[in-house]
Amino acid sequence: MTTYVYPFSAGSMEQKDLLGGKGANLAEMTRMGLPVPPGFTITTEACRYFMHHGDIPAGLAEQIREQLIGVEESIGRRFGDPHEPLLVSVRSGAARSMPGMMETVLNVGLNDETVHGLAAMAGGDERFAMDSYRRLLQMFGRTVQDIDADLFEEVLDRQKAERGVATDVELSAADMERVVEEFKAIIRRETGADFPQDPHEQLHRSMLAVFRSWNAPRAIVFRNAERISHESGTAVNIGAMVFGNLDEDSATGVGFTRDPATGAPGIYGDFLVRAQGEDVVAGIRNTRSLPELEQVMPEVYAQLSGIMEQLEEHYRDLCDIEFTVESGTLWMLQTRVGKRTAAAAFRIAATLVEEGTISAEEALTRVSGAELTRLMFPHFAPDPGRRAIARGMNASPGAAVGPLAFTNEEAEAAQWDGTPAILVRRETNPDDLAGMIAAAGVLTARGGRTSHAAVVARGLGRTCVVGVEALEVDEADGVIRLNGEIAARRGDEISIDGTTGEVFLGAQPVEPSDVARYLSGEVTVEQAAAGEAGELVQAVHLLMGVADRVRRLRVRANADTPEDAARARDMGAEGIGLARTEHMFLGDRRPLVEALILAATPGERQVALDALLPLQRGDFLALMQEMGERPVTIRLLDPPLHEFLPDITELSVRIARAEEHEGATEHDLRLLDAVRRLHEQNPMLGLRGVRLGLSIPGLYGMQVRAILEAEALALADGGAPRVEIMIPLVSSVREVREIKQELLAVRDDVRRESGQDLTTTIGTMIELPRAALRADEIAQEAEFFSFGTNDLTQTTWGFSRDDVEAGFFFTYRDRGILLISPFESLDQFGVGELVRIGTERGRSTRPGLKVGVCGEHGGDPASIHFFHWAGLDYVSCSPFRVPVARLEAGRAALLEEEFTPQH
Ligand code: PEP
Ligand code: MG
Repeated sequence: MTTYVYPFSAGSMEQKDLLGGKGANLAEMTRMGLPVPPGFTITTEACRYFMHHGDIPAGLAEQIREQLIGVEESIGRRFGDPHEPLLVSVRSGAARSMPGMMETVLNVGLNDETVHGLAAMAGGDERFAMDSYRRLLQMFGRTVQDIDADLFEEVLDRQKAERGVATDVELSAADMERVVEEFKAIIRRETGADFPQDPHEQLHRSMLAVFRSWNAPRAIVFRNAERISHESGTAVNIGAMVFGNLDEDSATGVGFTRDPATGAPGIYGDFLVRAQGEDVVAGIRNTRSLPELEQVMPEVYAQLSGIMEQLEEHYRDLCDIEFTVESGTLWMLQTRVGKRTAAAAFRIAATLVEEGTISAEEALTRVSGAELTRLMFPHFAPDPGRRAIARGMNASPGAAVGPLAFTNEEAEAAQWDGTPAILVRRETNPDDLAGMIAAAGVLTARGGRTSHAAVVARGLGRTCVVGVEALEVDEADGVIRLNGEIAARRGDEISIDGTTGEVFLGAQPVEPSDVARYLSGEVTVEQAAAGEAGELVQAVHLLMGVADRVRRLRVRANADTPEDAARARDMGAEGIGLARTEHMFLGDRRPLVEALILAATPGERQVALDALLPLQRGDFLALMQEMGERPVTIRLLDPPLHEFLPDITELSVRIARAEEHEGATEHDLRLLDAVRRLHEQNPMLGLRGVRLGLSIPGLYGMQVRAILEAEALALADGGAPRVEIMIPLVSSVREVREIKQELLAVRDDVRRESGQDLTTTIGTMIELPRAALRADEIAQEAEFFSFGTNDLTQTTWGFSRDDVEAGFFFTYRDRGILLISPFESLDQFGVGELVRIGTERGRSTRPGLKVGVCGEHGGDPASIHFFHWAGLDYVSCSPFRVPVARLEAGRAALLEEEFTPQH
C-alpha cells in the first residue's frame, strides 16, 4: 500500500517533491529538535491522484486517522473532544513555494460543542474561543464552500460599526458569538446546509479544498510566471494548532536571518502581539519590527534568535521563518531558504564565502542569471532638487516609472500599450497577481516588508514600495490622496524607488546601474567599489570570476555593426557568433540592393554586385578589426528579398497617383513587377537562406569575396582575424556542396590575388529539422555548425515566429499547454532533442566538430543549461545578455550532474 501520509518526525528537507517545501522543512526542524507543533503531511502524490481521478486514493482516509491519533497522543488532546479539543491547521505546501496562492484553513475541529472546551482550556476566555470559531467559519466558508468573502467581512464591519469600535480585537465575547451565529446563517443560506459539525468531515473537506486550490486561476497565473509545472501538485500539512491570539503573552510573526532586501546581516522581520499568522502577512494591521520582540518577550526573543542562528547554520543560507508564541511558549511553524532580492542574493552568497560557510563554487549556484539581469536595471539619477511626495518601505529595489493603475485590467492594458504601469493598491492579495506581473512597479498604502505585495514583488523582480501610510487609495474616483489632498489621478505618471521607498510625481529620469557599468567595462571594480553599490559590485565581480573559471561553454555575441561588436567585447563576449549581413543592406544601400533584384541581364547584375562589394568589404573589415583575434562568424544573406523592396500597397498607390498626372516611372513599374514576382504567401518558408544563394547567381560569391578580401587586408595589416562563413537555412548536404564549390573557387582566387594565407572556415546553420536529422551528412561539408533555434523552433512546432506571441500563445499558456513561449526559452524535449541529435550526428562524421547556437535562446538561462548538457561549444546572444550567459554557463558546469531536460 502506498504511503500517502508522513508524520513530521519521519521526513527530511531532501523530500520536497513528495512532501512539498513546507512539509519537508517542518520535518527537518522536527529532526533538529526544534519546537514544532506535532503534525503530518499528506503527499503531493495524493494530490496528483486526486487531480487525475477526482477522488482520493484508497487508504488515504485510514492513514490520516492513524496519524491523527499520533498527534492526539503526543499533545494529550483529542480531535472533537468537547472538553479539551485538539484543533488542527490545514495548509498547502508545494515543492516550490507559491506564497499566498493556495488555501489554508485554521482551527479545524471547532464546533458548537468544542468551542466551549477551547474556552475552558484558555482559562475561560469565551471571546478568544468565539473569535477562533468565527475564523474557522470564515475560512471554511470562503475556501471550502466558495462563498463570497465579502459576505463575512460585511458582518464583521457591521458589528464593529454598531459597537463603535475600529478593530476586531475590541469586540466582546458576546459580539463574537453574534458574528458566529451570523456566519453560520450565511453558510446555511449560501449552501443549503449547516456548517459541518463533525471535525473529521471538516478536515477531509479542507484537505480537498487545498488540493483543488492547486488549480485556482491565480495559482495557474503564478506558475506560468514562475515556470512551475502544473503537474506536480501540492502537499497538505496538518498540524496541531497553537494560538498566537490567546492572550497578551502570545504573539505571531515572520522573520529572516538576514535582510532579504539588501543582504545585510542581522535579524529582520515583523510580529504582532495577540494575533494569528495571517494578520501579519495580510498587511491589515501594521506590524512591529522583530528586534522589538526583545523588549516585549525577552526570553522568547533569546530562544528565537538562537533558533534562527541554528537554522542559518544548518541550511547554510538565509532562512525565513514563521513562528507563534502561545502563552509564552515559542513554536516554529515554518522555515525555508528565504526569498531575497537579486542584490541580496549576490551579497549573501559572497558574504557566506567570506565567512567560510560555503565555497565560491557553491556561491555561484546560489545566484542566477535572472537576478543578474535585475541588477543591471537602471536606477533614478541623483537629483538634490527632487522631492518625494511620500515615503514607504523599500520592499523590492529598482526604479519604476509609469502611469498610475488601480486594477489588474488597467495594469494589463498599460502593458499592452507598451508603457507598463505603477499598480497602486491599499494592500495586495493573491488576486492582484496578474496586475503585479503586468506592472513596472507596485505601490501599497498598507503592509510591511513581509506583506503579500512585498514578497510577491520581490519574487517577480518588480520594484515595490509598501506601507505608505499617508497614502489613501481611492479606486472608485481613480485618485490617490496624501493627507486628504489629491496627489495624482488614474493614468498620471509617477515614479517609485524600491531601493529607498520614495514616491515621486512625474516620470523621473533613470540612469544605469553600477553593476551594469561595471559589467560593460565602463568602470573598473575598484572604481565601482568606491560607489554606493560597492559591496554589491564586488560580489558580482567575485561570482563572475568563478563563472568564467568553471564554465566550458564559450560566450559570443550576435552583433552586426562595429559598435555592437565593441559593446559585446566590453561585456566579455569571446567572439561574434552571428553577424547578420542583411542589416548591412538597408538604409542608403537599399537602392543598390534594388538594382540587384531588378537586374534583367547578367551584365546589369554584375554592375550591382560590383557596387556592393567594396561596401561589404568595409563592413567586414570593421567587424574583424573590432574583434581582433576573436572569432567572427558572418552569415551570408538570409531574409526573403521582398524585405528590401517597397510595400506592395504603398507602391501600387504611388503608381496609381502618378498615372493620374505625369505617368509612373519605368523604375517604379519594374519595381512593382519585381514585388509581384517575389510576393510569397509564407515568406519565412520561401525564397530565403541558402535558396537565395542558389537562385541569385553571384550574390553569395560577392559576399564571400568581400569577407575574404577583408580578411586579407586585416592580415596584411598585421592582424590575426579568425573568420567563419556561415550558410543559412540549409536542409540538405547537396545545397552545402553546391554553395561550397562556389565559395572555394572564390577563396582560391583571393588567396592568389592577395598572397595571404586565409584560414576562413565554412560552416552551416542548423535551423531546419531536416538539417538536424541529416547532420551526419551535412558535416561532411560543413566545418562547423551553429543552431538557429529561432527558425528551428518555428519549423519544429509549425508556429510562425512573427505571429505566435501576439496570438494564440496566451490561450496555450493559460491552458497550461505551454508554460513559456518556446521562442523565449528552448523547448528542450522537442527542439532541444533536434539540437542533441544534430550535434551527435554531426560529430559522428567529424569528431570535435565545433557547435554553437545563435538563436535567441543563447541568452536564456534555462536554455543555456540545456546547451551545456548537450555538449555545445558556445552560445551566442545579444551583447546585453553576455554577462548573464557567462554566469549561467558557469552555473551549468557546476550543476551539470543535476541536469535533466525540462518542460
Ligand atoms: C535563428 O533562426 O535562430 C537565427 C539565429 O536566425 P534568424 O533569427 O536571423 O532567422
Ligand atoms: Mg534563422
